[in-house]
Amino acid sequence: MSKILVIAEHDAGQLKLATLSAMGFAHKVCAATGGSYAVLIVGHGIAAAAETLRSYAAGCVLVADHSALKEPLADRYAHVINDVARSQQATMVVGAASTFSKDVLPRAAALLDAGMISDVIDVNPDGNDFIFKRVMFAGNVIATVKLEGALKFLTVRSAAFMPPQKVAALSPVTSVTVDAGSLPAQIEFLGSEAKVAGRPDSTEARVVISGGRAIKNSEDFERLIGGLADVMGGAVGSSRALVDSGITPNSLQVGQTGKVVAPDLYVAVGISGAIQHMAGMKDTKVIVAINKDAEAPIFEVADYGLVGDVYQVVPELMEKLRK
Ligand SMILES: Cc1cc2nc3c(=O)[nH]c(=O)nc-3n(C[C@H](O)[C@H](O)[C@H](O)COP(=O)(O)OP(=O)(O)OC[C@H]3O[C@@H](n4cnc5c(N)ncnc54)[C@H](O)[C@@H]3O)c2cc1C
Repeated sequence: MSKILVIAEHDAGQLKLATLSAMGFAHKVCAATGGSYAVLIVGHGIAAAAETLRSYAAGCVLVADHSALKEPLADRYAHVINDVARSQQATMVVGAASTFSKDVLPRAAALLDAGMISDVIDVNPDGNDFIFKRVMFAGNVIATVKLEGALKFLTVRSAAFMPPQKVAALSPVTSVTVDAGSLPAQIEFLGSEAKVAGRPDSTEARVVISGGRAIKNSEDFERLIGGLADVMGGAVGSSRALVDSGITPNSLQVGQTGKVVAPDLYVAVGISGAIQHMAGMKDTKVIVAINKDAEAPIFEVADYGLVGDVYQVVPELMEKLRK
């Protein structure tokens, strides 16, 4: 029987929706094999996020709340996850495939001498074990893999697993005792850059508007891509071409070496559709491409395409949408 520990992710106490997909994975495994799952949330000032987690039929919501855990420092979080995984006798530790999980979970797995698979998109029981499918090579290969060992660490792609249904009976909450003196302190938190207020994170948003090399400077990016995102209540993203030329910050990059997004709607504005870019957005439900080159590869994956100059088309689109 599985005993799964899902690691919840949050941004300063605001629950990240990708957590619900990781819970969806746990729900699927437990429904197929029996067993139960618990959710662990680590941080400080996380009561509201913990409360939200109680509605999804987890066996228990474990809360490690301490001022020493205010910032998501990987060495400290991995330490706490280890302690809880051991005390819960977890057979799997699961997080959403995200920057946070890439930072924290491999450390935790290494400390427990456990194996890890990232970017899981499917799971099936195989006797007492499991067979997983995971994406590799920028999404061009789907590997079928098994993971040795009684304890497995995984990250799961959020587009692949539906969040569990909400239930009326709330999961019980258990506080995790944190001994701040025993936490590692090899990493020092110096600061973080806040994103533009009001815009959602591209990994969480239902609508993402991304700009590519067609955009000539930061002001145009903010006016056209930011403007369209604001009209549509969406997040902004960027191709690497704009990041490399200093027009957009690295945090906006979508793709193989950037963020992986799976919104309901992705609008690629002046993006050619390089394979490395598409690795980060091809799980989108509806893709719209705007490009002046009718032969651009992005049109091969787009559900809707608009051939035109972004400097003309995007302002028109914004005006029409505002009306
Ligand atoms: C190892 C590796 C990892 C990489 N990782 C990533 C990644 O994570 N994310 C990523 O994005 N890239 C990544 N890349 C880079 C990738 O290969 C492409 O170079 C990049 O995605 C191109 O960005 P782009 O589409 O904005 O630019 P281009 O390929 O130059 O395309 C610009 C497009 O804009 C159109 N255009 C130009 N002007 C206008 C206009 N006025 N109106 C309308 N259309 C116009 C053009 O027709 C063209 O199709 C990676 C590359 C490597 C080698």
